[in-house]
Amino acid sequence: MKEQLYTIPVNEAFESDCECPLCKMKEDLERNAIEYTLGPSYMEDDTRAMTDEAGFCEKHIKDLYKEKNRLGLALILSTHLQKTTKDMQTLSSKDSPTGSSFFRKRETTSLCEYVDKLQKRCFICDRINNTFDRYIDTIFHLYKYDPAFAEKVHNSKGFCTYHFAYIYDRAADKLSKNVLEQFLNDIRTVYFDNMKRIQEDIEWFINKFDYRYKNEPWKNAKDALPRTILKTHSVVSKDDIQ
Ligand SMILES: [Zn+2]
Ligand SMILES: [Zn+2]
Repeated sequence: MKEQLYTIPVNEAFESDCECPLCKMKEDLERNAIEYTLGPSYMEDDTRAMTDEAGFCEKHIKDLYKEKNRLGLALILSTHLQKTTKDMQTLSSKDSPTGSSFFRKRETTSLCEYVDKLQKRCFICDRINNTFDRYIDTIFHLYKYDPAFAEKVHNSKGFCTYHFAYIYDRAADKLSKNVLEQFLNDIRTVYFDNMKRIQEDIEWFINKFDYRYKNEPWKNAKDALPRTILKTHSVVSKDDIQ
């Protein structure tokens, strides 16, 4: 089966004038996933089975709590709690940690393995990542077949460091040799040119703390800090700094 393409959100992200279109895509997917989780879906058995099984990472449980759908979250967590407690009761009755010594490596219990796996799972992260990978495939598809999209990549403000490496690494599996070289050249240029721009912005921002620059204009540096944080840490700031 041919994988579905997501040309609309991918085009929109590359047109959005942000510091990283992939961060923008991820932010939109995250918002949708949070709304989905606390929407009518949590009363559907198959969705609830998934949240019971996977639970949520630390970031996303905090995001869900902030949404203020207290009843929805309580219902989701009550059955997640039920399931994990039942699973752990079964596992804890099967094995228990044996005394360790300096000479004998203690074996990990299946209960600890279970908790370890549980901590790495998140219903929202899973949901974001599944679609995000399709978005990435769509980037390569559009770059190959739509010259207007390649132009949008050229004119974009580049990527955050993490997402630059992410597409840089995946391109080889998706593009044939000639297109691949062109693509890598394009994203290298757009990434490094825009990192230079951000570097200049943050340095001008620093200058503005010096009394000698007090009466100089801000240029593009007023919001240099949140834009730099996006580039270096993939954090999309909501702050509207004017
Ligand atoms: Zn990014
Ligand atoms: Zn998560």
